[in-house]
Amino acid sequence: MTQTIDSAVHRLREILDGQVIEPADPDYDQARKLWNADIDRHPAVIARCAGATDVAAAIGFAREHGLEIAVRGGAHSMSGASSVDGGLVVDLSLLREVSVDPQTRRARVGGGALLSDLDAATAPHGLAVPAGLISHTGVGGLTLGGGMGWLTRRAGLTIDSLASAQVVLADGRIVRTSSDQHPDLFWAIRGGGGNFGVVTEFEFHLHDLDPTVQFGMFFWGLDQGRDVLRLARDLIAGMPSEVNIVIAGLNAPPAPFVPEQHHFQPGYALLLTGFDGTPHHAALADRIRAELPPLFDMVTPMPYVALQQMIDGANGWGQFNYEKSTYLPELTDSVIDVITEHLPAKSSPLSVVLFYRLDEAYCAVADDDTAFGGTRTPRYAAFIVAVTPDQATLAADRAWVRTLFDALQPASRDTGTYINAMTEYDEHRVRTTYGPGKYARLAQVKTVYDPGNVFHRNINIKPA
Ligand code: FAD
Repeated sequence: MTQTIDSAVHRLREILDGQVIEPADPDYDQARKLWNADIDRHPAVIARCAGATDVAAAIGFAREHGLEIAVRGGAHSMSGASSVDGGLVVDLSLLREVSVDPQTRRARVGGGALLSDLDAATAPHGLAVPAGLISHTGVGGLTLGGGMGWLTRRAGLTIDSLASAQVVLADGRIVRTSSDQHPDLFWAIRGGGGNFGVVTEFEFHLHDLDPTVQFGMFFWGLDQGRDVLRLARDLIAGMPSEVNIVIAGLNAPPAPFVPEQHHFQPGYALLLTGFDGTPHHAALADRIRAELPPLFDMVTPMPYVALQQMIDGANGWGQFNYEKSTYLPELTDSVIDVITEHLPAKSSPLSVVLFYRLDEAYCAVADDDTAFGGTRTPRYAAFIVAVTPDQATLAADRAWVRTLFDALQPASRDTGTYINAMTEYDEHRVRTTYGPGKYARLAQVKTVYDPGNVFHRNINIKPA
């Protein structure tokens, strides 16, 4: 780095209330780490911002010195979009405060909060925001791309609960956006990702949620794959919104409830959740056991917060990951054949396929009400994820992910990809996902708020 930039960074240190971290600083290596260990980037400056004015100053600094900008919330971008070699990282990890007003049933959430921060603040009030399955994921990236999880059938995507946001724009202005303040921006940030500015605070509507939920895991070996997936399809077809099923192809965990002979055995699981004390959960559990007795199962009530953290460990920081995702309008017999043919070919016991069901409340929002990438028709979001303990073994399962993804494409029928799970930027696929009308509208909004494409380390929408 030149002496000029060095002295400028010195000035940035003086301006920011938060921290400025450079390569020579002792905490640099820790600060530049991302969730996916396969990504190893070396930014020139990490601006750990303490508020919106810090963010504005960091953006101004980067622009003045021609540094590329990356925005880091929970650091879970599989592709490492939240860091940049030689550039400036706007690090939001100090902005994790969550305040809940149970009277108005609203929550204000810092732009760098994790799902665990959000749940910890809302659950004691019997309230929740529908979000994702892993509690160390960032609220920021997850929300801006959509946000889906256990509660999607009951309460919609995370963006469907967004009431307003504070955004720092590319030119340093700090604005609040909602349905009546900068409504074009508010539309775009609900699905258009981090393209339009840095969100320093989200405000969410909260949903009533009984803090105790019902959980069930049912597991079968590889040989029963076709029957499991057909059963899941039948159950899902008539399922009320208070229950949900996530379908998984995975290896059985070495957990206390798993008989030892099944530890690490590959197979299929149905993860059944029930909310609001619904009797449908018990009825579905009985039906599963009667129609296709599993090798083992576990059915138990648990706190909602525990459900949200249940698979955190298996998805921890420091593993090597690669992912592809696709929407599937239906779980047809030929899709089932493709899945059951390819699942046994994965080589890492940690690699998984997951199918989230999107219907009910997900479909209650009109396509054009938000910028979400994907139409609001019933579907599955399929995630094919390679997870390995070291880089050397990632290559084999990266190839496995790509092969299975390609094999599923005929069934996807050009419905696109959940943009938060798009590891490799593919402009054609981005346009397909949004559709021509929505993409054009997003490009218009981008032109208004970020004409120079300052925020481009994301699933990029180019200015019109
Ligand atoms: P970061 O890497 O910090 O950010 C990703 C991108 O989001 C950044 O490049 C930036 O463009 C943008 N961004 C983040 N915060 C802000 C902000 N405050 N303002 C402006 N831009 C911002 N998704 C689901 O919907 N449901 C799930 O169940 C789910 N589970 C997941 C589990 C794991 C283990 C992982 C790795 C991902 C999962 N995802 C899930 C995908 C997740 O939504 C995306 O990876 C998301 O980008 C993560 O957000 P983050 O803030 O942690 O990521």
